[in-house]
Amino acid sequence: MQKKAINEAERVLRICNSCRYCEGFCAVFPAMELRRTFTEGDLKYLANLCHNCRDCYYACQYAPPHDFDLNFPKAMAELRLETYKEFAWPNFLSGLFHRNGLAVTLISILCVFFVALLTFISQGSEVVEGVHTGANSFYNVIPYWAMLLPFTVLAGLAVLCFWKSVSHFWKETDTNSRPLFGFGANMGATWDVLRLKYLDGGGHGCNYPDDRFSMMRRNLHHFVFYGFALCLVSTTIAAIYDHVLHLPAPYPLLSWPVVTGTIGGISILIGTAGLLFLKFQMDREPAARHSFGMDVSFGVLLFLVNLTGLLLLAFRETSTMGMMLIVHIGLVMALFITFPFGKFVHGVYRYIALVRNAQEQSEV
Ligand code: SF4
Ligand code: SF4
Repeated sequence: MQKKAINEAERVLRICNSCRYCEGFCAVFPAMELRRTFTEGDLKYLANLCHNCRDCYYACQYAPPHDFDLNFPKAMAELRLETYKEFAWPNFLSGLFHRNGLAVTLISILCVFFVALLTFISQGSEVVEGVHTGANSFYNVIPYWAMLLPFTVLAGLAVLCFWKSVSHFWKETDTNSRPLFGFGANMGATWDVLRLKYLDGGGHGCNYPDDRFSMMRRNLHHFVFYGFALCLVSTTIAAIYDHVLHLPAPYPLLSWPVVTGTIGGISILIGTAGLLFLKFQMDREPAARHSFGMDVSFGVLLFLVNLTGLLLLAFRETSTMGMMLIVHIGLVMALFITFPFGKFVHGVYRYIALVRNAQEQSEV
């Protein structure tokens, strides 16, 4: 399968390199034009540099039904999916990318079941179904150490998996032994990410979900991205309150952790709901054949994590708090486990490809 994806990516790039009509759309075509031939590393890099905005598909005179059957975004998307499997670490878990939607769904259900089972066994149903108010009320249901320990381990493992995967990808796609952490290239890539520059299709927006230009996909990605950033800010402030100021959760509605977490959570709900809606409307021709389940399962899981987080906030002083907390913690656990083996990886590889691109363009 990998060979087929490699061969098709090389075929379409050779044609495009003669045509070059789409060079103003995104970073892929200028990067392509720096090459006469393409190594496998080049192809994997270019596949991850593509943001699947689809402008080049609807603009292309050689797209199906032309005999060339040139579907550039699909060729990049198919190869991109193969790179996720190839560079996954530990590699025996790369199978999770096959039927990823099913894998993420099963892991989510198992995590919620596992947290519920442990909580009921260790705390008893009276504690789970009771009303808890004031400081430490969450920890009355799930003890502090039982939250801290597993998530510290899972976060550490996720970082390790990403580091190994990214290092492998970087080495495979590098020809000049350039450092990954070059300051200028990382600043350039970060600026591209903060603006989601390559979801603007050269200024008019993506051809997504259909052949009309639209900024909708870019705007919804911004809701998710900045919502995620606000949730990280909320968690960090809460950790400082707890560990440094010795003020345990839950916090008042108008405290910094709650305000930033609530705005972030609502932002992610809007972004994921909108992206899922577009996903079901989209033209599937310029997409990878087997990525739909992966995309949808990640969006649904992210949506549910934030929905249960907000419901937990709303019902934290009622008898439903215990069950809400169990479901929320179970889903967060599933999110942490599947981070390196699901849709989330697209952001990581794309960032690395943008760093590579910033390096290359600075050397031209
Ligand atoms: S996608 Fe089509 S129009 Fe665009 S550069 Fe390639 S061959 Fe030319
Ligand atoms: S789909 Fe968009 S981002 Fe990907 S190569 Fe075509 S124009 Fe560039």
